Amino acid sequence: MDEQGSSVALVTGGSRGIGLAVAHALAEVGWRVAVIGRDHARAVDAAQSLPGEGHIGLACDVADAGQAAATVAAVESELGQIDVLVNNAGITRDNILLRLKDEDWDEVIATNLKGAFNMTKAVTRSMMKARSGSIINITSVVGIIGNAGQANYAASKAGLIGLTKSVAKELASRGVRCNAVAPGFISTDMTAELGADAVERLQSAIPLGRLGEPADIAGLVRFLAGDEARYITGQVIAVDGGMVM
Ligand code: NAP
Repeated sequence: MDEQGSSVALVTGGSRGIGLAVAHALAEVGWRVAVIGRDHARAVDAAQSLPGEGHIGLACDVADAGQAAATVAAVESELGQIDVLVNNAGITRDNILLRLKDEDWDEVIATNLKGAFNMTKAVTRSMMKARSGSIINITSVVGIIGNAGQANYAASKAGLIGLTKSVAKELASRGVRCNAVAPGFISTDMTAELGADAVERLQSAIPLGRLGEPADIAGLVRFLAGDEARYITGQVIAVDGGMVM
């Protein structure tokens, strides 16, 4: 919490889908939120749509270490100490292994895994100094169980789990927690391209019988962000309607 009295969260990929729901959930309870996305106008619009005051939207490609560091510095100077970082920005470039292009591998790893590393590194010094902070990485059940046609995506999300546990171990003594949330199939732009057949097939594999909504993920992220989760670190928690158990 900074001198203005409300906590500050930075949500990457906060302009749409799960990230936007997370930004809403935090803003609803009085957090000031920095919304990050590659598209500047969309990030600014998203920030303006949040309840409460003091939110900002910034353009940043998290895969670029220089942009990540500059963005964190800009948020710290405008909003103060960052209490919570949500590494949510993510992309898919799906294909079967034999057709997976090098650039599709590189782009997915660069955004989903290196992006989280870039942002985490950029916030770590000030969180360590403050001796408090919560970092939440949005991985996927696919990073736990794998998925045919998503070798690049699954590898990036499995990597994120290793990053989560290592950061948790490294920063625990400095009062900084790091956890991962693993969504199942959630209705967003990312899954909008699935045909009706695929959705029906998926639904039948989900014990709770429906695809998730972004708000289903946001509640857990808000809990992990706050003080009620003060004794939880290094965990990977699935929010998937019971798909993986
Ligand atoms: P989405 O609707 O496609 O939104 C992705 C967000 O990430 C957008 O705000 C996008 O904004 C931003 N983004 C993408 N690349 C970026 C980059 N290089 N730098 C900064 N921002 C970037 O995705 P979603 O479904 O909400 O997914 C959010 C996260 O949850 C992802 O990490 C995804 O892998 C994970 N997840 C999703 C599901 C699911 O079923 N939807 C399941 C498991 C895990 P711009 O386009 O403006 O950059």
